[in-house]
Amino acid sequence: MEERKGYFGQFGGSFVPEPLVAVLAEVEEYFYKFIDDPQFQKELHEYYKQYVGRENPLYYAKNLSEKAGGAKIYLKREDLNHTGSHKINNAIGQVLLAKKMNKKRVIAETGAGQHGVATATVCALMGLDCTIYMGEIDTKRQELNVFRMEMLGAKVVPVSDGTATLKDAVDAALLDFVENAENTYYLLGSAVGPHPYPTMVREFQSIIGKEAKKQILEAEGRLPDYLVACVGGGSNAIGLFHDFYNDKNVQIIGVEPAGKGLDTNEHAATMTLGSIGVIHGFKCFTLQDEKGEPLPVHSIAAGLDYPGVGPEHSFYKESGRATYVSVTDDQALEAFFLLSKMEGITPAIESAHAISHAVALAASLDQDKIIIVNLSGRGDKDVAQVKEMIEQKKYQS
Ligand SMILES: *Cc1c(COP(=O)(O)O)cnc(C)c1O
Repeated sequence: MEERKGYFGQFGGSFVPEPLVAVLAEVEEYFYKFIDDPQFQKELHEYYKQYVGRENPLYYAKNLSEKAGGAKIYLKREDLNHTGSHKINNAIGQVLLAKKMNKKRVIAETGAGQHGVATATVCALMGLDCTIYMGEIDTKRQELNVFRMEMLGAKVVPVSDGTATLKDAVDAALLDFVENAENTYYLLGSAVGPHPYPTMVREFQSIIGKEAKKQILEAEGRLPDYLVACVGGGSNAIGLFHDFYNDKNVQIIGVEPAGKGLDTNEHAATMTLGSIGVIHGFKCFTLQDEKGEPLPVHSIAAGLDYPGVGPEHSFYKESGRATYVSVTDDQALEAFFLLSKMEGITPAIESAHAISHAVALAASLDQDKIIIVNLSGRGDKDVAQVKEMIEQKKYQS
């Protein structure tokens, strides 16, 4: 699929200002040097096992499946990882790489705060200096995560430029990277950005799909009919999807945030309503204005609030390998409560987008069909926000 390095069909690549070229070339060199190195892989998998708690279960959600009244729904439990989401898989991989590169300082951007927490956690573990850039609006939405990062020894820098959300945090982090590349490693949190990041993040997240494939074969003796995952930048989704790419009978569905509705300006449905363009140094489907500037986006889920999407997903869409659908804020909230009540599992509001679509899909299918949903994270971080919405009568559960 990746015929030219860093390209997925016409998508991906590296469209960056001159000072970044050499800096990214160094990251690329080390990535390809170590990704197939048995010693590196051994170290990585030791951390996955002893620190993250892998492998995590592929859980048959019997109550939810019966409630939906159709296909069997399995949940890949990334919510059970240390720090509560899939993001730690990538953070460990990249911090290990930073150490191989002899960097003493790690910087990262964060939206929901989950990637920031994962990065700060791994930097604490491995003894590296850590700075996290976060949109000022997100620092308010996710106050507790800011405090968690600081507790872990990281410095959190609020970014008030532009829309003061994730995309502005990425810009600020890139600037820092160029200025301090000598001793600094930029740890990108999703399968986006210029080459080699989309390939690298996918490699570190592909453990999700590898485990899920083995587990479903053990449980059912066959591959699933559908994979469903939420798509922000696309790392948890590509992590699940990638290993099934050549299994053409497995249908792949990504779920984007429709926010307050596709007919409003308040969504982040990049695939459904975007067009092809360049954002943050790579080509993908993006929500942009006539000048190619990213449009403001909205989702109830801070982790899905991004105007671009990973190049590999863009290619899956264009080539027809996967389909991309959207789920609104209210539908995600409904699924947030539904999974809590039916299974005693509170999903991250991001993951609730995938749950919502999976339940609707299951209801339309026969009982012999199998769906695997990536439960990308746990919902503890969202409980306070949801409580407030109910109290302000912005939502009725
Ligand atoms: C960050 C996050 C996402 C969205 O990021 P992707 O790169 O699209 O996976 C989804 N779920 C959770 C729990 C997150 O923290």
